[in-house]
Amino acid sequence: MGPKRGLSICVFVSMVACVAQSSPRTSAAPPGTTIPNTISAINSSTPLSQRVVHYEIDARYDTKTHALDGSETLTYHNFTGQPLDTFPFHLYLNAFQPTATWVREGKREATRGQNFARWDPKNYGADEIESFEAVGQGDLTSQLQFVHPDDDNPDDRTVVQVRLPQPIPPDGEVQFKIKFHDQFPKVLERTGWDRDFVLGGQWFPKVGVWWHGAWNCHQFHVYTEFFADFGVYDVKLTVPQYEVVAASGIEVGEVKNSDGTKTVAYHGDDIHDFAWTASPHYRVHEDRFQSSMGPVKLIFLMQPAHWSQLERHVHILREAMDRYDRWYGPYPYKTFTMVDPDPGSQAYGMEYPTFVTSATSWILPPGQRELPELVVEHEFGHQYWYGMVATNEFEDPWMDEGLNSYNDVKVMDSIFGPTASWVDLWGATASMHQRQRTMYIPVPDFDPLTRMGWQFANFDSYAAISFGKTASTLLTLEGVIGEDTLRQAFRTYFMRYRFTHPSKEDFLKAIEEVSGKDLRWYFSQAVYGTEVLDYEVQKVSCVPLDWYKENRHDKKGETEYVSDVWIHRKENFIFPVEVEIKFDNGEKVRERWDGKDRWVKFEYQKRAKVVSAEIDPDHKIYLDRNNFNNSYTIEPNTAPASKLVNYWVFVTQFFAQFLSWWLA
Ligand SMILES: [Zn+2]
Repeated sequence: MGPKRGLSICVFVSMVACVAQSSPRTSAAPPGTTIPNTISAINSSTPLSQRVVHYEIDARYDTKTHALDGSETLTYHNFTGQPLDTFPFHLYLNAFQPTATWVREGKREATRGQNFARWDPKNYGADEIESFEAVGQGDLTSQLQFVHPDDDNPDDRTVVQVRLPQPIPPDGEVQFKIKFHDQFPKVLERTGWDRDFVLGGQWFPKVGVWWHGAWNCHQFHVYTEFFADFGVYDVKLTVPQYEVVAASGIEVGEVKNSDGTKTVAYHGDDIHDFAWTASPHYRVHEDRFQSSMGPVKLIFLMQPAHWSQLERHVHILREAMDRYDRWYGPYPYKTFTMVDPDPGSQAYGMEYPTFVTSATSWILPPGQRELPELVVEHEFGHQYWYGMVATNEFEDPWMDEGLNSYNDVKVMDSIFGPTASWVDLWGATASMHQRQRTMYIPVPDFDPLTRMGWQFANFDSYAAISFGKTASTLLTLEGVIGEDTLRQAFRTYFMRYRFTHPSKEDFLKAIEEVSGKDLRWYFSQAVYGTEVLDYEVQKVSCVPLDWYKENRHDKKGETEYVSDVWIHRKENFIFPVEVEIKFDNGEKVRERWDGKDRWVKFEYQKRAKVVSAEIDPDHKIYLDRNNFNNSYTIEPNTAPASKLVNYWVFVTQFFAQFLSWWLA
């Protein structure tokens, strides 16, 4: 997703089941239940993930009330190695209520869907469990308890937990039968209805993840996204026959019912969420992409008013898929669905497995590439980091949004060229590098990359750090280990950890392993720290050796000078820098400084004067907060300087405009 506009610290840790009470008879899983080994939705002859869950959901959506009635059978395989008797479930739609944590956090900063003063109750959302049974253990509806592990908000009902009378032994299975009633909200972000459009996201009771020895099931926060186990989804959706429907996975059947509805069935393998959409207005285009694992059917659901932009969507998606496939590894699913959501619905720019929403407008000049190109590329990129690698987005937003933002630069540069990959319009150009850096530098030091999503100081810091700083950190790292080496490290990380929920150290160690370098000095500042990087050319002086002689005259090429150049590390981020010093005889000298002291002085005695000094002359350091103090010219040429200022004004304004649109 694009950045969207937190509180206490605790991670949800469940009670560990009581081992002593288990006996051979207590296996609660009914005989014969297993997670299917299906492969029909992937281009693979074997399952790709350890399949923990199988969701079978039968749901009927009422287009008049925006409500949904669902029955869910969830089979859960206990891979934890220990008995489990407590199970937490997300009820995300309960976030869309006035006293929920999500709304409290959003109202505080008026994030994109929440800049309203009044909220009509008919626009709220809800997810209510009507009945809950653990097969073989009876009806446990009365045992359900809301918990609020992150902020102690007693009015937050986005996590519910149940304790089973009998624990599920290691390698055992349990089947839950859940009847639920959803009220979709009018879309604020990510899910809900607007007019006759609906985006069904986070809409069913969803079990938490057993991760690092404990249940991980956070409340729904306004800055955080999602985390779930891989498995198999079989979902039937019943909607009016006039609706155009699309969803995660592959469509496996459609039945027309006598009451004017139809039931469309979908199947997904090795995915960890399921989203769908319906609207009577979509125009559908289908295409095909040949991935290195097999053919992928591309499905585009466009607003009729945006049909003329279909080609831009198809082009950028195919190009982005090509780069990801060649650089990092295959997209293994048989479908990818791109939804152009209802205009003004706040449902744009969101990722779900094999299914994303994009964003566009009825008129967009082709040289601005924020919409639709960057949004389509960005949401597709999520299929790798959120979709397949599937890191914990609650706790490490940078590992999805940030790695994705870095790759926005790489992919867009590769397609459109590095100087104009973001904007090439009316004679002005701007690069994706600058976009990411511009996002980071206004709020560089409140939070480290590793801050848990809901604990950022504020929205601006969340966006600056999770997106812009992560991208700038990785771009700067290219200057240390090489662009090709970092690409290889990304490939190693993706291929090794896809479908496994890796941690941040898995990523960082993969970079160290592939580069063969100890990079702790860098990670401790850029990843784990809040240090700010800013070097300046503090002073340059040139004194003639014969300054004391009477009637002396400077003569170019003959007068000998002692020249000094002072470089100052203004902030606390220590990073080795290069400095290029130019002399008036055309000579250039490159100096290297480890940056460990607060300043360094370079001195020269030559028959030439220093005319300029520039830090980072190859422009490899994207974390430098202020580039304007990186160079010094003795006889300033104002023309390039003013050009640079104009460029920055343009970039900043352009960026602010689009960012406010994306966030608003
Ligand atoms: Zn995103």
